[in-house]
Amino acid sequence: MTIAQRLDQIRQQIPPSVLLIGVTKQVSVSAMKEAYEAGVRDFAESRLQEAIPKQEQLQDLKHISWHFIGHLQTNKAKKVLEHFDWIHCVDNLKLAQRLNQLVQEGVNSPKLCLQVKVLPDPNKYGWHIRELLDDLSELERCKHLKIEGLMTILPLGLSESEILAAFDQTRQLAQTLKQQSSLSMEQLSMGMSSDYLLAIQQGATMIRLGRIIFGDR
Ligand SMILES: *Cc1c(COP(=O)(O)O)cnc(C)c1O
Repeated sequence: MTIAQRLDQIRQQIPPSVLLIGVTKQVSVSAMKEAYEAGVRDFAESRLQEAIPKQEQLQDLKHISWHFIGHLQTNKAKKVLEHFDWIHCVDNLKLAQRLNQLVQEGVNSPKLCLQVKVLPDPNKYGWHIRELLDDLSELERCKHLKIEGLMTILPLGLSESEILAAFDQTRQLAQTLKQQSSLSMEQLSMGMSSDYLLAIQQGATMIRLGRIIFGDR
């Protein structure tokens, strides 16, 4: 199947209100052009050194939004702010405060999601629920940030009911944060190739799809 055919199949399963983001780490520029021609305007990368050359090669394509989904180190924060429209993986208070300071100094201000770990997962970054609630007032003080919602990545090996429960917990956490703070919590970035349909059932507004569009990495 071609990339366009795969995208057609996926789009038939998802409501138009859900933003489909093509995850293009280790995907060639020519495959990205194919996805663009099939209507994809949102691309996600997890490494700056891979993303920047691709952005340069694709700079003639209009209206692309670039999403950063990798682990963000503080020393790369400025570059990521400059090169992306969205950052999905703000995963600790120190990083949020650093981003806030950079934006205040006039660096570009992308939209952000806070990355949460609703289940314990030694391999994943992110706030635990309790920690995020504890950091809430400090986050509210980061006035220059455009915090839009939450992002989560689930651990591998969960059953369908565990996946549904974890996505539901993420959605409920967004509700709680909205009630307890002035933060905007309209976006839920959750769901990848293996679990996007379950994520949509539980209210995902953005899904991040790699393998199911572009094939195995
Ligand atoms: C790689 C990646 C994805 C896409 O995963 P697939 O299984 O290829 O769909 C989504 N989100 C993040 C954060 C990723 O690193």
